[in-house]
Amino acid sequence: MSKESYPPDLCDCSICDIRSTATQVVPGWGAKPAEIMIVGQNPGKEEDKTGVPFVGASGKWLDRILKAIAHKRDEVYITNTVKCLTPDNRLPEADEIKSCAYWLIKDVKEVNPSLVIPLGACAMQAVLCTPPDARITEHAGKLYHSSVGVFKDKLIFPLMHPATLAYNRSRNYDPYCQHVANLFALLVELGILEPTVDNWREGFKI
Ligand code: URA
Repeated sequence: MSKESYPPDLCDCSICDIRSTATQVVPGWGAKPAEIMIVGQNPGKEEDKTGVPFVGASGKWLDRILKAIAHKRDEVYITNTVKCLTPDNRLPEADEIKSCAYWLIKDVKEVNPSLVIPLGACAMQAVLCTPPDARITEHAGKLYHSSVGVFKDKLIFPLMHPATLAYNRSRNYDPYCQHVANLFALLVELGILEPTVDNWREGFKI
C-alpha cells in the first residue's frame, strides 16, 4: 500500500475491509510526546462504541498495570496495532496488521516514546517483528532492544494481553505479577520512577 493511498486523518481511513463492519476507527489516546507507549491488539466492542482504546474489561486491568507503575492514563500513550474492531473480535489478519502499520508508525513518530509496551502476541509481532508463531509467554516481562524500523533504539517490554487476566485470572495472575514487578524495576533503573514509589503490588492487587 503506497503512502498516497492513505487519507491525512486516521479517522477517514477505510483501507481494510474491517472498517466497513466497525462502528468507527479507534485512534490512540493520551500524551504526545510520552515516555511510555502501550500497544494493544485491536479495539474490542466497548472501544468500538466509544472510540476510546482500552475502556472495557481489558482496560480495567490496564488501569491496574498503570497504577502499579505509578502512571495515569494521560501520562502515557495508548494505542492498538489495528485501529478497528475486527469481525466478531477475531485476531487481526497479517494483511490488516500490515496496512495499519502505517498508522502505528505515525503514532511512534509523534509520541517518540523511550519505552514501548506491546500487550499480547499480535502487538509483540508488530513491534518486535517476531515470527508469527512467537509465543508471548516466552517474551513477556523481559526487556528487548529493537533494531528494526521506527522502533530502532527503543526499549521494548512485552506483557501478556490484559484479556488473559480478565478471562483467566486464576492461571495468569501470578506470572503477570512477576512481569509487572520486572517492569517496575526497569522503570526505576531508567530513572522514570523513584525507588521509594515501591507500591506496584498495591496498585496491581485484585
Ligand atoms: N483490547 C485491545 O487490544 N485493545 C483495546 O483497545 C481493547 C481491548
